[in-house]
Amino acid sequence: MRKKIIAGNWKMNMSFDEAEDLLFNIVDKLDPNLPKNIEVVVCPPAIFMELATDVADDSLMKIGGQNISNHESGAYTGEISASMLGSLEVDYCIIGHSERRKYFKESNQLIGEKVTVALKNGIKAIFCCGELLNEREAQNHFAIVKTQIEEALFHLDEKSFRSVVIAYEPVWAIGTGVNATPQQAQEMHAYIRKLISGKYGAEIADITTILYGGSCNSQNAKELFANPDVDGGLIGGASLDAEEFLKIINSI
Ligand code: PEP
Repeated sequence: MRKKIIAGNWKMNMSFDEAEDLLFNIVDKLDPNLPKNIEVVVCPPAIFMELATDVADDSLMKIGGQNISNHESGAYTGEISASMLGSLEVDYCIIGHSERRKYFKESNQLIGEKVTVALKNGIKAIFCCGELLNEREAQNHFAIVKTQIEEALFHLDEKSFRSVVIAYEPVWAIGTGVNATPQQAQEMHAYIRKLISGKYGAEIADITTILYGGSCNSQNAKELFANPDVDGGLIGGASLDAEEFLKIINSI
């Protein structure tokens, strides 16, 4: 059975005290009988990572980073390496988020290097892909996502690919309040699974977790997650409120 995941991307939000409150609120209210195939991942800003892994210790909550360097170590002022995250027992890292692509000019090639370095250090990658609005309007959305996946992931061998989670996040849906329809999400997720099957075979495609992200909230989560190829969500704004995030978790 493939894993289902609800991951919260806090982006650049929260003070230390707010982060502590939110982390404890999530951990304290997580259903202790959460089915074994469902994972909850919280991705706070890097400065709160040690706090987050401490709070998450012995709980059902896993912790993820939001970004890492493509370099292993060395003179890269301000950067955070995969091995640093690993040393704090961080399980996941979001890689290739559209905000990184847009504001930090991350290319598919660079994102691919980050995925490689994450996996090498035992960090599972939550790899983000998705088209811009004008690309969808021009009916180019499948081609764009195909290129993003091929250029950033398909250098991986089969064993490494097993540690990749894909998040389909149409850029026009991120932070806009306009989510993809369940049909649009399912159609793209099925397409992504077919791409994976073509490269790694049906068995790997079948166990790959593919998340939907983009204005997912407690109102629309159930309908989105009901699709056969939607294995959970990457949640931005709605993950900043414990009640709302827990409702989304309970929608899966
Ligand atoms: C995101 O940033 O990954 C995201 C999905 O944001 P939001 O849920 O706020 O649209």
